Amino acid sequence: MTGAVRTKDRADRATSEQVLDPRTLYALQKMRRAEVFEEMNGVLATGKEANVYHATTLSHTEIAIKIFKTSILVFKDRDRYVTGDFRFRTGYCRSNPRKMVKAWAEKERRNLARINSCGIRSPKPLHLRMHVLAMEFIGSKGVSALRLKDAKMSKARTDRAYQEMVRIIRQMYQEAHLVHADLSEWNVLFHEDELYIIDVGQAVDLDHPHCLEFLREDALHINQFFQKLGVATLTIREVFDYAVDPSIPADGQDAALQQLLDAASSRPAMVDDGIASAEEEVFRQAYIPRRLGEVADHEGDYDRLAGGQDTQGIYYQSIAGMKADMSGAQSQSAHPSHSVPDES
Ligand code: ADP
Ligand code: MG
Repeated sequence: MTGAVRTKDRADRATSEQVLDPRTLYALQKMRRAEVFEEMNGVLATGKEANVYHATTLSHTEIAIKIFKTSILVFKDRDRYVTGDFRFRTGYCRSNPRKMVKAWAEKERRNLARINSCGIRSPKPLHLRMHVLAMEFIGSKGVSALRLKDAKMSKARTDRAYQEMVRIIRQMYQEAHLVHADLSEWNVLFHEDELYIIDVGQAVDLDHPHCLEFLREDALHINQFFQKLGVATLTIREVFDYAVDPSIPADGQDAALQQLLDAASSRPAMVDDGIASAEEEVFRQAYIPRRLGEVADHEGDYDRLAGGQDTQGIYYQSIAGMKADMSGAQSQSAHPSHSVPDES
């Protein structure tokens, strides 16, 4: 009984701090009855799109509860992530903000499930009720793990973290068939010496028309962060190609990455190198076709590639299963088909 009262006090306090609307309180009540949690302890983070709370279960396990905000303004610019995702062809109603946030929370739950099922570290989704998502807590004693941007890592650990991030980008693409689309030092937690991917509500399926642009942005943000820390990063294009290249065998992924990293560390630092940055700039601004079919003259381009001619401006070799040097024209598409069990 005390528990219930205390929970109510805590919930009220949380309410006055963050103004939970009646629907949210109702969802929380339902979740508490379902014994998803016993006590809600307070706010871990407040954001534009969601607030995250700390809670504990009857057995004193810590969990995180992410409550998505129902304000329409916030979700307007999220539209580009949801529109085009095959999982939201139906059941997504742009005119109804409540349905929209619900769809959003559902998307985060599914994405977390997919990412987890591929063995990528991230909070396990525990329970979803409307726009309220309970998930595994990454941290300890009521304190969230540090974000990558605040993590204090040795030089060696920083270098390794960069490698891990590039591997995660590839694994998300190849195995979870997702592009995070908001990957940065803000959305990676560093917990017990491991990286955890969070905030995957906007992650898109590979079917999404903009998924490769999002991938390029993710690569850019991760590179920029690690360059500031003095890591000899790959180019954005190398990260991109590494992520999408289907010709790398499962047991050759680490070796392939190591090769790229070795090459990266023997060239001048990316930030001040005029030539490298110019090439990066071209890639950043290049139009990336999602499928070979979107390229008007792909046969002409293929001939140019095969003939070893200038490939400037052709950025789909890996995607189309072609290598720049034509060493391995592949029958397999770099755009994996949907074989990921979508739900758990
Ligand atoms: P937003 O969309 O507001 O950026 P995030 O999912 O990135 O939401 O969460 C915001 C913050 O809340 C994170 O930076 C982290 O500090 C904390 N947080 C989110 N999920 C968890 C979790 N599962 N465990 C611990 N802390 C979390
Ligand atoms: Mg975030």
